[in-house]
Amino acid sequence: MSAQILIIYTGGTIGMVQTEKGLAPASGLQERIEKAMGESLVTLPSFEVLELSPLIDSANITPDHWTKLMHTLSTHWQEYEGFIVLHGTDTMAYTASALSFMLGACRKNVLLTGSQIPLGMNRSDATDNLQAALSLATYHRITDVSLVFDGKLMRGNRIQKISSGRFDAFQTPNYDLLGELSINVQLYPKRMLPFVKNAHYNQFEKQMGCFNAGAVAVLIIHPSQPSTLYQSLLEDESCQAIILLTYGAGNIPDQMPSFLAFIAEAVNRKKNVVNLSQCLHGGVTQGAYATGSVLNALHVMSGKDMTLEAAFCKLHWLLAKGETYQGIQDKWSINYCGEFTE
Ligand code: ASP
Repeated sequence: MSAQILIIYTGGTIGMVQTEKGLAPASGLQERIEKAMGESLVTLPSFEVLELSPLIDSANITPDHWTKLMHTLSTHWQEYEGFIVLHGTDTMAYTASALSFMLGACRKNVLLTGSQIPLGMNRSDATDNLQAALSLATYHRITDVSLVFDGKLMRGNRIQKISSGRFDAFQTPNYDLLGELSINVQLYPKRMLPFVKNAHYNQFEKQMGCFNAGAVAVLIIHPSQPSTLYQSLLEDESCQAIILLTYGAGNIPDQMPSFLAFIAEAVNRKKNVVNLSQCLHGGVTQGAYATGSVLNALHVMSGKDMTLEAAFCKLHWLLAKGETYQGIQDKWSINYCGEFTE
């Protein structure tokens, strides 16, 4: 291969075209990039586009796609200096998190990007994001699986999509930026994952097994909800872990005996239960309130300040590695790739 960068195109707005049903992904992206970016490509690293099949709106992402993406990266790892994953913004945070657990500290840059308006359409942000990703792809070693979007470089497992209408669509509410791209490019290497120096280091060692769809359920705590919504999870054997999206610092309605009994029974059936806050910023301090300390007694694990996307993918990844209920209890508090604040 003579190109420096492999662009892996999964779908997403960046490569979409207008159809009768609305925007949908379309192939032929390499030519469209060359047409849209024209002369500016002369100063950027050379690249080749690999289109995954089928191209998807990222609303259709499933854990299988992460296994496939990892397989694609491992197949082409030796051939290129860096990798750009073009992905829809809707589930960008899930894929960035999944890749971050599987890859750990990267020896080659793995950057994700996408756009809010398709490439080639009026006022599109696609060329800016793509140019930024290409200009960083062979630049300073970026050990984190990262997102480049609207002039910001962000740790992949800390991102959340916070706007469907602004170009500034992503934030890392509980972590600082890894870099800023304005007139000057300013990177913050000290905020990136420490580099692994071992000569025998295998980038793909951490990928073991396959992600299983349906293994992790998410329950949002409300002032009330039908109990059938959660009781059915107890019988579902494919569901091996449950994330509770709780109030504030990690609080639940502790005056609801049926809900407490549900959590106790889930744990009894060896389903790991994780406590994550519905708040964008700050995270869980399980036990700050009596309505949260009840979860300590029930062996619920604190998700600290992890995003939902990171916690969801961490559970999937640990399960894919074959970890048992107890293994996940023991390993949950390991900070594998900077996914929570110590
Ligand atoms: N629905 C699109 C997707 O996630 C949105 C986007 O890419 O911005 O694929």
